Amino acid sequence: MTPNEDTCAAHETALVSKALGVSTSTDLAAHLAGCPACRRKLASYRQMRAGLLCGPFAAPDESIINRMIRVVAVRLSNARPRRRALQPLTR
Ligand SMILES: [Zn+2]
Repeated sequence: MTPNEDTCAAHETALVSKALGVSTSTDLAAHLAGCPACRRKLASYRQMRAGLLCGPFAAPDESIINRMIRVVAVRLSNARPRRRALQPLTR
C-alpha cells in the first residue's frame, strides 16, 4: 500500500483518537501498517501527550491536553505540504 496525502488525511481523526488511547478501526491499523509517515505522526502525538502529562510543571487537566492535540492535528491536516524547489538536472 502506498500512502498518499488524501489517504493519510482521511485517517487523521482516528490517528488522534488512537494517540489519546481510544480504540480505533481496523482501517487505521491497516493504514498504519503501510504508512511510515502516519506511524511517525502517531508516535509524535503520543510523545506530546506523555510530555504534557508528565512534565516538570503542574500537570494540566487531561481534557486540555486532548483538546490541544486535536487542534494540532487539525492544523497539521490543513497545512499545505511543502514543495521542494525544482533542481536543474545535471548530466
Ligand atoms: Zn498515512
